[in-house]
Formats: sequence, C-alpha cells, structure tokens
Amino acid sequence: MLFASKLFPAPLQRVGSVAQSALRRMLDLALPPLCATCREPVEGRGLCPACWSKLSFITRPYCERLGSYDPGPGILSMEAIADPPAYNRARAAVRFDEISRALVHALKYGDRLDLAPMMGRWIGQAGRELLAEADALVPVPLHWRRLWARRFNQSAMLAAAVSRQTGVPVAAGALKRVKPTAQQVGLSRTERAANVQGAFRVPGDGKSGVTGRRLVLIDDVLTSGATVEGCARALLRAGAANVDVLVFARVAEPARTSI
Ligand SMILES: [Zn+2]
Repeated sequence: MLFASKLFPAPLQRVGSVAQSALRRMLDLALPPLCATCREPVEGRGLCPACWSKLSFITRPYCERLGSYDPGPGILSMEAIADPPAYNRARAAVRFDEISRALVHALKYGDRLDLAPMMGRWIGQAGRELLAEADALVPVPLHWRRLWARRFNQSAMLAAAVSRQTGVPVAAGALKRVKPTAQQVGLSRTERAANVQGAFRVPGDGKSGVTGRRLVLIDDVLTSGATVEGCARALLRAGAANVDVLVFARVAEPARTSI
C-alpha cells in the first residue's frame, strides 16, 4: 500500500478492507504486470522472455493414451497397456518444473488471475485434438469449503479461458467434490488413490450435461493422475460417452523400468 499512501489523501487510506482490496486491484491494473516467476515487470504477458524460454512444452512423440512417456516403436506406452486409466487420453501443455510451478502457484494462491488466458491458450494448443471432438469442458471441482476459503477454483478459471478461446462450453455443475479430501501433496500414489476414493459425484441436476456426451476434464496439475481418474470414473458412471483429460502441467513420471 506504499503506492496508495502516495497517490491518495489520508481519509481515503482509512477505508475498510473491502474497499482497500478494490483499490489494490485498481492499482494492479494500472501498474505493469510482473513476471510470475522472477517478478521483473513484463509487458502484456505473465512471463518475461527469459522465464518463458525455460518453460518445457510437451510435444510428440508421446504415448497417445497418457500424453507422456516416449512410446518407443508403438503408439502406446507399456504403462498405458499394463495399467490403462479410466479416461481415454491425457494431454498437458508443459512439464511441471520450477517455472510452471511458479505460474500455477501465482494463479492459485497469488491472485494472478490475469495469467489464466495465457495458460488457457497453451492448454488449448496441447489439447487441440481432444477439444475438436469435445461437447463440453468439466473443471476438476474443489470441495465447497476449500472453494469458500480460496474464493475461486483455479481449474474453473483455466476451463473458462479454454472455453473462451475454443468455443467449447463449460458444463458447470456436472461434477461435485462430495468429500473434503486432504491435500494430495506428500502422499504416495496408493494414498492419493485412496484419498480421492468416492470423492467425486455427478449430482442429479448435472446428469443432463454428462450423459452421452464427450467431456474434457480440466485441471492445473496432473501428478499421480488419481484425481482425474476419480473424476473420470464418476463421469463415466453417470453415462459420459468419453472422458479426456487436459491439464496445464504434468509432473514427470518416475523413471520407467525397461521391459
Ligand atoms: Zn521472469
């Protein structure tokens, strides 16, 4: 609020916290945005050129099912054949690393909602084929308590950005998180799967947006895949014709054993 004290007379500084945050937003709009990673001022985008060049975009060749793993001679990885997911295909824009983590955290915890269009554009490019066949986007929902604490769902922000760019509508209310799951951070793969067991459900009034439709789940980060797996199962149980997964960043798979 250093800026505010210089720009506005004392009486205006005594406004309530609501007005103060509105004021902050106004100043944010007036000031040039900062790079989400290194905090250098940037023009018109959320990342400076140096940080942008460090982003690791995911391109082919990858397993056509998982959107990850070098499939080798075939089009599917051994992982996809041995342990196929409930969803059909997954795609991610970038690898989860220092730079993409900074973007995700800025969007999620730093109120950098201005980053959503840029991240949505990259997601849209990574998922072009999936989106061309999609009837609707389904953001991975937050439990209402977390939504209340954070005020917004970052996956819904990304889904809205992808929707604006592609014209694929968002099926709002298609999926609910009915169990307040613990944070997935620090949990093993098995613990993550148990954590989201029964956590997602298609509510009665969401069924019409799901049954017989081709859906694309949208999330910010794909780690073990347990969350999107839980979502995909719930949507398929409610009669979805197809469920694909599209995320901003995915965590690198653990070293695979050669077969
Ligand atoms: Zn930077």
